[in-house]
Amino acid sequence: MSPAPAPEQPRRRAALQLRGVERTYREGAGGLTVLSGANLQLFAGEMVALVAPSGAGKSTLLQIAGLLEHPDKGDVVISGYATGKLSDQERTRLRRLHIGFVYQFHHLLPEFTAQENLMMPQLIRGIPKKEAAHRAMQLLAYMRVKERATHRPSEMSGGEQQRVAIARAVANGPRVLLADEPTGNLDPTTAGFVFDGLTRLVRASKLACLIATHNHDLAARMDRVITLEGGKVLELRRQPALAAVRPPETQGRAEG
Ligand code: ADP
Repeated sequence: MSPAPAPEQPRRRAALQLRGVERTYREGAGGLTVLSGANLQLFAGEMVALVAPSGAGKSTLLQIAGLLEHPDKGDVVISGYATGKLSDQERTRLRRLHIGFVYQFHHLLPEFTAQENLMMPQLIRGIPKKEAAHRAMQLLAYMRVKERATHRPSEMSGGEQQRVAIARAVANGPRVLLADEPTGNLDPTTAGFVFDGLTRLVRASKLACLIATHNHDLAARMDRVITLEGGKVLELRRQPALAAVRPPETQGRAEG
């Protein structure tokens, strides 16, 4: 009798996985290969910085990881679901349930307050109004911008707008948060405070977070730093989670 197979080691399942992703833009003669066998695993609770020069393919990688673009080859696996063979409708559903996005510009709805901006995606998903309002306030508190709940975006500073945008991105409880230069529009001090809020959210919600950034100070505060070279993902640094949120005495000051 053949021996029983060894029990599988319990393995952590990646919240997001890119497997051999390829992407070539076929405009003009020859086309431009941006991703060529890109592999990545992103786990719950970790913050990973994606640092690479302009044009290296950071946005393309985030768009593909977020199921907004199709890879030419390879697959994106979200919480164990391989997405390559899914219909557009199924991809959209998976994206809505599992992925949050933050961009350099906030894209908040101008005619609604901060709280309403956070309630909107929840109401669309069918969450009762009272529950959505409560969660909105909780998230605004995490981002230290609760006192702006009744303000419209035009009545907030750039840093406050971006805090609200980050809170909105996680309003529906995604597993994965993808951010493309989330503090690129802010001065360094404000960027640091906004990043503190983002870190609190990621740690508390055990989000898997991938952040494209040019800000090396912020990258240094993340768990891992990766880059893109020749269309592949390379690991630049891996280390245990730093105490990414600064000590309380620096947090009391006016946060931008
Ligand atoms: P990054 O975010 O690192 O600046 P991008 O992913 O935006 O890089 O772009 C990588 C390369 O692909 C750039 O040379 C860019 O011009 C090109 N590119 C991006 N999107 C498209 C597109 N839709 N069509 C053709 N080329 C594109």
